[in-house]
Amino acid sequence: MKYWRQDIECIDREELVKLQSRRLSEMVKRIYHNVPFYKNLFDQKGINPNDIKDISQLNELPFTTKKDLRDNYPFGLFAVPQSEVVRLHASSGTTGKPTVVGCTKNDLEMWSEVVARSLTMAGITNRDIMQVAYGYGLFTGGLGIHYGVEKVGASVIPISTGNTKKQLQLMMDFGSTAIACTPSYLAYLAESIEENGVKDKIKLKRAVCGAEPWSEELRRHIQEILGIKAFNIYGLSEVIGPGVAMECECQNGSHIHEDHFVPEIINPETGDVLPYGEVGELVFTTLTKEAMPLLRYRTRDLCTLNIEKCECGRTLVRMGTILGRSDDMLIIRGVNVFPSQVESVLMDIYETTPNYVLTVDRKNNLDTLEIKVEIADKFWTTEIREIENLKKRIAQSVQSTLGISAVIKLAEPHTLSRSEGKAVRVIDNRKK
Ligand code: ADP
Ligand code: ZN
Repeated sequence: MKYWRQDIECIDREELVKLQSRRLSEMVKRIYHNVPFYKNLFDQKGINPNDIKDISQLNELPFTTKKDLRDNYPFGLFAVPQSEVVRLHASSGTTGKPTVVGCTKNDLEMWSEVVARSLTMAGITNRDIMQVAYGYGLFTGGLGIHYGVEKVGASVIPISTGNTKKQLQLMMDFGSTAIACTPSYLAYLAESIEENGVKDKIKLKRAVCGAEPWSEELRRHIQEILGIKAFNIYGLSEVIGPGVAMECECQNGSHIHEDHFVPEIINPETGDVLPYGEVGELVFTTLTKEAMPLLRYRTRDLCTLNIEKCECGRTLVRMGTILGRSDDMLIIRGVNVFPSQVESVLMDIYETTPNYVLTVDRKNNLDTLEIKVEIADKFWTTEIREIENLKKRIAQSVQSTLGISAVIKLAEPHTLSRSEGKAVRVIDNRKK
């Protein structure tokens, strides 16, 4: 099966706009009458919810920010009585105090539906055995994917994250054909599979990876080592969790489930909506969520949108690779750099592994960047000349691609810590 919901995934865009408009008009009334925060916001700006009838009016409406969620911690933005909330989750808290989200029964059903569509895009069917190696718990990754796998009818192995030995053991014993986890953890699993010499005992064919930025080069690296296809899944707990967008077999951008989540790209400084193709901050409006609907939620994730019809036949808009969060962007001596761009450069140098840490500091009023990267086992050497040559090559590549000079440190194989969930790639001592 190629599509889970062909009528929606390949919908005529004019029909989609009508559907979105109907849903937006209803959603705006719902939040106005049920969420005091939104009522105040609308009243202050003199917006009458009854006037909102078309999706093109979206840019007249106010934004919601992470701060608004924190200010209304824990349940202040809920639009239904607590008796209708059947699940609570919290964001990972990567950038501060976690934010709480809730789901009604219908929200959970919608979430499983978008994850089922997403898994189908990646070619997963009821014949697959899928290992879910995202964390189960408050984090939306584990449970979010889990119910989608069941909906598709594949067999789910709810192993959660960590315990790499057991991951490999079950992968071999149960014959897992698919896995869901962070790309950094999949890179670690791939490394362990190689080291244990068990590649021929593994039946893995497809991976669904997300929850953190990853470069095209890291994807290639994972795909080559494991001989699988790895697909990007995107989501955030505030909007629903994993399954907001998903890459299809073309691996050229992730389709957003626009009948539920309306994306916009804005200039993060001015808030102006940017045209398709331009890089900016991704903003989502949830059209159908009941427990915690969000109007124009600013994700702080930077990317582009592509409206062209995809070769897979889907008409749903595609988001490009996330460069990073606006708060992850490093400004080093005036040059803007995302950790994922450094990753791209490092992954193009064949002696290095996907294990690296960036340390930023300020010395004598000058920003400094140190890149510590681990060398692959087979290239490790104690020959000083070889080490110096490799460092020079990496530094030159960083300089010519990103326009910044960096101090390169090479780490011996297996010395940098591996991540089981979201990898921590940056230490910024300037913020201390
Ligand atoms: P937190 O914001 O605390 O990490 P979440 O667990 O909800 O909370 O994570 C959502 C965030 O994870 C997104 O806003 C985005 O920054 C990142 N993310 C999720 N999926 C991807 C992906 N496929 N590519 C890049 N970043 C992603
Ligand atoms: Zn497609």
